[in-house]
Amino acid sequence: MTAQIISGTEMARTIRTALADEAAQLKADGVEPGLAVILVGDDPASHSYVKGKQKACAEVGIRSFLYTFPAAIDEETLLAKIRELNVDPAVHGILVQLPLPDHICEWSVIETIAPEKDVDGFHPINVGKMMIGQRAFLPCTPHGILVMVQSAGIDIAGKHVVVVGRSNIVGKPVGQLFLREHATVTYTHSKTPDLAAITRQADILIVAVGKARLIGPEHIKPGAVVIDVGVNRLENGKLCGDVDFDAVKEVAGYMTPVPGGVGPMTITMLLHNTIEAARQLAAK
Ligand code: NDP
Repeated sequence: MTAQIISGTEMARTIRTALADEAAQLKADGVEPGLAVILVGDDPASHSYVKGKQKACAEVGIRSFLYTFPAAIDEETLLAKIRELNVDPAVHGILVQLPLPDHICEWSVIETIAPEKDVDGFHPINVGKMMIGQRAFLPCTPHGILVMVQSAGIDIAGKHVVVVGRSNIVGKPVGQLFLREHATVTYTHSKTPDLAAITRQADILIVAVGKARLIGPEHIKPGAVVIDVGVNRLENGKLCGDVDFDAVKEVAGYMTPVPGGVGPMTITMLLHNTIEAARQLAAK
């Protein structure tokens, strides 16, 4: 068997075309969606992610405002900037690129963002609403994964979803979103003994760890859907996921590639949330 490849790049392109129409309509109604991006320090990966997000914004007609600060910035100055953006009518979404330097408390930063502008979906209010099934900004990577699986025409209800990784931004929320869609969800992590015995039960396996090629064919049930969230840079400079793509594609039924899988969908959901935030704020 050779797995069918789920292209995040292609799905993202289709969704972004629709989002561009929505942004144009909002603009015609007098509201230009705006995203403020805060970047602290000079981590090259963060700079590259921010550049990608700004480019994507420009493509769909979202205005982006970039605020860069040195790594030594004190927490209060950063929080003051967020409070200013919370009341700026041109800004509908606020994104603080993570990780932040160690002396800044990530939770204080996230909690300072107004929930109605929290387009990353990390604020405890949005996380709580997501958990209880209320309308909320969904975190972008988990939402992107859900949309990818649904758009590929894969039924979720009743399926066994195994999530590898339990981070607050990917692992935990992605399991919750699939639970909402009536999957039976199992979480695994670094303390899980005999990982392969559990992953082999998965109809849908979602891997978000950050370890190159952790998951091999021995972890896969034949025909399973395998979603690879990991982004790892190899010594030769190339990117690869947490799943050994070449070996696993001979066993899986569907697979996402890295790059070109979850990444483009994550950014697309950020654009989606920003347009939604603009629509909601305009309606107030
Ligand atoms: P974290 O480092 O926050 O979490 C990693 C998780 O993996 C932890 O829960 C950890 O367990 C678990 N883990 C570590 N080693 C093992 C192991 N040997 N077996 C099973 N579980 C293990 O990472 P993130 O969730 O933030 O990101 C995961 C990956 O996804 C990274 O490569 C990141 O770059 C990528 N990513 C990609 C995005 C995209 O858009 N494509 C977006 C966000 C992330 P424990 O909790 O026990 O420590």
